[in-house]
Amino acid sequence: MAIQEKNYWLTTVEMSRADAAKPLPAQLDVAVIGSGFTGLSAARTLAKRGVNVAVLEAESIGWGASSRNGGMVLTGMKLGVNKLISMYGRERTQRMYAASLESIDCVERIVREENIPCEFARCGHLEVACKQNHFDDYARQVEVIAREFNHQLRIVPRNDLPSEIGSYIYYGGMVDEISAGVNPAQYVAGLGRAAVQAGAQIFENTRVNQIAHDSAGWNLTTSRGTLRAKEVFVGTSGYTSKATPALQKKIIPIGSYIITTEVLPETLAQELSPRNRMIYDSKNYIYYYRLTPDRRMLFGGRAAFFPETENSIRKSAEILRQGMVSVYPQLRDTKVEYVWGGTLDFAFDIMPHAGQMDGIYYAVGYAGHGVAMATYQGQKMAEMILGDKPENPFVGIPFPGAPLGMYNGNPWFLPLAGAWYKFLDWVS
Ligand SMILES: Cc1cc2nc3c(=O)[nH]c(=O)nc-3n(C[C@H](O)[C@H](O)[C@H](O)COP(=O)(O)OP(=O)(O)OC[C@H]3O[C@@H](n4cnc5c(N)ncnc54)[C@H](O)[C@@H]3O)c2cc1C
Repeated sequence: MAIQEKNYWLTTVEMSRADAAKPLPAQLDVAVIGSGFTGLSAARTLAKRGVNVAVLEAESIGWGASSRNGGMVLTGMKLGVNKLISMYGRERTQRMYAASLESIDCVERIVREENIPCEFARCGHLEVACKQNHFDDYARQVEVIAREFNHQLRIVPRNDLPSEIGSYIYYGGMVDEISAGVNPAQYVAGLGRAAVQAGAQIFENTRVNQIAHDSAGWNLTTSRGTLRAKEVFVGTSGYTSKATPALQKKIIPIGSYIITTEVLPETLAQELSPRNRMIYDSKNYIYYYRLTPDRRMLFGGRAAFFPETENSIRKSAEILRQGMVSVYPQLRDTKVEYVWGGTLDFAFDIMPHAGQMDGIYYAVGYAGHGVAMATYQGQKMAEMILGDKPENPFVGIPFPGAPLGMYNGNPWFLPLAGAWYKFLDWVS
């Protein structure tokens, strides 16, 4: 089979479609923008509490990163724990780490309560060290995480790696058994169904172009007409647009790309990933990979930094195939069947952020750690809109913009950032 430029996950699920003929409501309690994990999780929580809520989606349900990702439901955040403590102090970092663990329970709870068939499994994750000094740092991290967050990770010395991974290029690893794997397209489809069952409405092909405030609340101008809402919640992640200009200036959209191979023989799959871990390496220019539930190797990375285009997706297929073979020479003759890309959202401090900006509620900035955290933030922000005062350590932390304000939403510096990351991987 020739490589198909399409998202493999979407071949495993029937995405539900909203009724295209249904007119927009004139008035809502809450308008949610974006139908990924963030927006749908918020809509589900709000609807269960009797709120008149609708999700407005520019494309189709789950169209953004939520259906396109690696399906790794990960503990921790993108930044390392020592960096986090230096930025926020011990107490706030402890709360953040606890939230990252709670976010995985949150996904598991929703999957169970809503009976979502999405192959959720607590298979754990494995981080692998590309250099000796990266591996040395794992020991320090394990010690800090045990002491400060009462959470146990396990170091895997190089000699023991074959029990975790069938690759010989790494200097050792670190395992967290709490992380999980999921089929993200099945999960986001199920989350959408759950939100609708709870009473939320979803409108596809409804792009919000402008949001204005007056004494009676919010007026939203969309590609399908206008509507009013008492509150607005934005969960547009890497696809954040000029509809929310202040938020757009704080978010850098970064491309990430994935290939999947043909179905592997059972013995080969077992050799590559004996414990079926979610795996990623220690580089800045990261590779992440896992087996799919039907035993394909799914291999992702930042093959290009720009958000996906047909051209960048095509080029990524070969770049990622070479990356995969460098990790697993056993896959040299294995066919790659699918390639696709999606857009991640990075804040300038590489942290998740949630709260209110110019009166509009938002949750963004997951930096590739969004499957669990976006679900969690959607729920927490819905509770905040309801006036519950939920625990959410990501609300109220400084949310920096670009240095000297040199960014208007067009990420002109991405090629430089890509080169910089490659340089860092070379020297550090
Ligand atoms: C290739 C890839 C691999 C990844 N792998 C992982 C992983 O393995 N583990 C992990 O934890 N995270 C991963 N992530 C990150 C994770 O997928 C995201 O953090 C998460 O899905 C974000 O969810 P969201 O709901 O906030 O945004 P999205 O799912 O991106 O949804 C945003 C939606 O908003 C809509 N929208 C935007 N503007 C408007 C507007 N003006 N009007 C109406 N609608 C609008 C978009 O159409 C889009 O559907 C990956 C991401 C990518 C791209």
